[in-house]
Amino acid sequence: MAESVRGVVARSKNAPVRVETVIVPDPGPGEAVVAVQACGVCHTDLHYREGGINDDFPFLLGHEAAGVVERVGEGVTDVQPGDVVVLNWRAVCGDCRACRRGRPWYCFDTHNAASPMTLEDGTPLAAALGIGALAEKTLVHAGQCTKVDPSVDPAAAGLLGCGVTAGWGAAVNTAPVRQGDSVAVIGCGGVGSAAVAGAVYAGALRVIAVDTDPRKLEWAEDFGATDTVDASTEDVVDRLRELTGGFGPDVVIDAVGTAATYRQAFDARDLAGTVVLVGVPNPTVTLELPLIEVFGRGGALKSSWYGDCLPSRDFPLLAELFRQDRFPLDRFVTERIGLDDVEAAFGRMQRGEVLRSVVVL
Ligand SMILES: [Zn+2]
Ligand SMILES: [Zn+2]
Repeated sequence: MAESVRGVVARSKNAPVRVETVIVPDPGPGEAVVAVQACGVCHTDLHYREGGINDDFPFLLGHEAAGVVERVGEGVTDVQPGDVVVLNWRAVCGDCRACRRGRPWYCFDTHNAASPMTLEDGTPLAAALGIGALAEKTLVHAGQCTKVDPSVDPAAAGLLGCGVTAGWGAAVNTAPVRQGDSVAVIGCGGVGSAAVAGAVYAGALRVIAVDTDPRKLEWAEDFGATDTVDASTEDVVDRLRELTGGFGPDVVIDAVGTAATYRQAFDARDLAGTVVLVGVPNPTVTLELPLIEVFGRGGALKSSWYGDCLPSRDFPLLAELFRQDRFPLDRFVTERIGLDDVEAAFGRMQRGEVLRSVVVL
């Protein structure tokens, strides 16, 4: 039996989001219905509402969620009703060229649920990142459900589904940061702060947080940054060189994703240093670089999709590190709100007042 639940819907470009009745169909083969316990409000949800991802309105927002599996469709064996799971937006197929080559984090054919959730009048909803979890229940592919330790607070655990893992993974998986490295992170919102925590975890000696907002620099210090650069008053490249004995950091992580921040990362890193781009650029942005320096400075220019994470490997790992007090996952939760508060939470996010607002159900 299809079910009616409450969910946060973006009807048209830039219109305020509203809680509406959402019809969740029965799980088909390989699918699961999950009762959502908590879901973070991410910049990507706002980008959907602004029409910055695509024009497939109406959207059912939400993709950083934890919940309990309620029902599963035919052939689902990895999860069963009652399992506590974090949802992921890259359910790897196991069968594409990347998966078969043993690099499933590059999977080219990730799975989503086949049948759409709809509005009451039958209008299909496009689920944000194939999830749509700012709702009481959601229909996903069973591969999008990753089991985690049920003792972890769902408000914290849900954040593993997107920004936190992306930032942590940019440092730990993509760079990868090595013991003794100097690391700079440009942009210290949720993703950047997680990159700071990842660099600390990986053994970086120096972790330099860069932002234009003093509040975010304070948060980054909380996550273990050893130094801060206020980009609103200081020259970022000069300051990063100064703080690293004149050389520049071994790794610079751009968690903003503009041409200006990327250029700072490119110019500031040491010879043979690594740039990691994890901030998602606006699709219209282009970049010009002196090719002789791309060649002459050596090193690596990398991009980090979802922190090159493998949900089945990394979500339980991070949940366990949190349980052992070795990763401060709960500190990303700035406030707990209800489904009706998402539009207001977008405003606080845009003003930089929160790391994460988390809807708790
Ligand atoms: Zn694959
Ligand atoms: Zn996200």
